[in-house]
Amino acid sequence: MDYEAVIGLEIHAQLLTDTKMFCGCSTKFGSEPNTQTCPVCMGLPGVLPVMNRKAVEYVIRTGAAMNCEIAGRSRFARKNYFYPDLPKGYQISQYELPLCNRGHIDISVDGVTKRIGLTRIHLEEDAGKNIHEGTRNESFVDLNRAGVPLMEIVTEPDIRNPREAVEFMKKLRTIVRFIGVCDGNMEQGSLRCDANVSVRPAGQDEFGVKTEIKNMNSFRFVEKALEYEIRRQLRALKEGERIIQETRLWNADRGVTESMRSKEEAHDYRYFPDPDLMPIEVGALWTEQIRADIGELPDAKKARYSAELKLPEQDADALSSDRYASAWFEEVLALGGEPKAAANWIRGDLARLLNEENREFAQCPLTPCHLVDMLGLVDRGTISGKIAKTVFEEMYRSGKDAGTVVKEKGLVQMSDEAGIAKIVDAVLARSPGEVERYRAGDAKLMGFFVGQVMKETKGKANPKIVNELLKKKLD
Ligand code: ADP
Ligand code: ZN
Ligand code: MG
Repeated sequence: MDYEAVIGLEIHAQLLTDTKMFCGCSTKFGSEPNTQTCPVCMGLPGVLPVMNRKAVEYVIRTGAAMNCEIAGRSRFARKNYFYPDLPKGYQISQYELPLCNRGHIDISVDGVTKRIGLTRIHLEEDAGKNIHEGTRNESFVDLNRAGVPLMEIVTEPDIRNPREAVEFMKKLRTIVRFIGVCDGNMEQGSLRCDANVSVRPAGQDEFGVKTEIKNMNSFRFVEKALEYEIRRQLRALKEGERIIQETRLWNADRGVTESMRSKEEAHDYRYFPDPDLMPIEVGALWTEQIRADIGELPDAKKARYSAELKLPEQDADALSSDRYASAWFEEVLALGGEPKAAANWIRGDLARLLNEENREFAQCPLTPCHLVDMLGLVDRGTISGKIAKTVFEEMYRSGKDAGTVVKEKGLVQMSDEAGIAKIVDAVLARSPGEVERYRAGDAKLMGFFVGQVMKETKGKANPKIVNELLKKKLD
């Protein structure tokens, strides 16, 4: 019998606010344990939470970017459970009135577009972190993360295989980074994924019993864990076993999912509205302002770059998915830069230079003006395409403009025929063996001669003239 998998994801994304959800403590990552805490986020008695407006705004921003309905009225609830990383004994979350409902994200797998529904997006606070590594029979609790604003994005069970799940995660990550609400850093845990998965006979309408795989922080883990779990469930069904609804953990060392605990139900958490926090009224005007501020999203940009600028798919994809790269690229166009040439420089030399220094595009030291000026020098024949690479790197390192670099380094292209002819003659005169072999039919040697002339002129000779002269003198 044929089976199909059914997958729904719950994604937690840390919001890029400077301060925590209900207090003024810093959200900075990587500080000494418990240096970013206060009575509110440590859960001491007698304190009152104060809502972080920016966090609410970021969730609405996310909902607007993911085609959700933004709730007019929303409320926080207490989710009660006991664990050492949760000092209050409850997490402030949202239950029956989340900020966003019913949205969708379109993904593309093997050129086919598929729409994945979103059930809801809600706002909550993160828990602290238990530390067991490097300790002797002790556990420590770091509360720096306790109270950091977190949004949970829940999908409909619309995903059918691990690859779709990974594509969805990637698309979601691109969007949250683009709109500036989450840095998407999975290694540092700013983006984490719980995957729900079940299997059912193909053609059956009802879903099978699902398991939930907790807290995966890389695309690879999501893919591997789902592949394993689908195989495990299929094998169990074939052997006549029943799938138990439970929470499982991905063990990356062994490459298996392991049972962690039986599934808890909503009523286990004793949800109730948090009496310390007022309900949120989201005004239509605020929502509209946030919507207007988002502007054009990566999918729309990508479509426009392909249709209007005729960029190849890979260029359109790369340039549209980063907010800073696309803004930079669009400014190059506004200054009169040619789209394909600009795309090549951005994705080639600029990406390489940034990558060498581990820099994001947001920290790019070059301005669009630098590139446009340099492209102008190439177009006018002042410098060759090859020299442009040197100029580009020098502009990147020094911040000087193209004209200054060319002048200071004496990089103007050599285009006077008589001057180049002299060097060509000299090269041919000192390579009689190569000349003989070339004339006897070894055409590959043309590359050698061109290389020699370029070396003599430090790459400045106009390559077109060099080629013409060599042909003339050798034939
Ligand atoms: P729970 O009551 O266990 O919290 P929900 O209905 O709230 O379950 O769904 C949680 C997540 O699991 C959602 O992403 C949803 O799409 C997904 N999901 C629900 N039922 C199934 C199923 N049978 N198989 C796979 N995923 C499912
Ligand atoms: Zn605090
Ligand atoms: Mg649920």
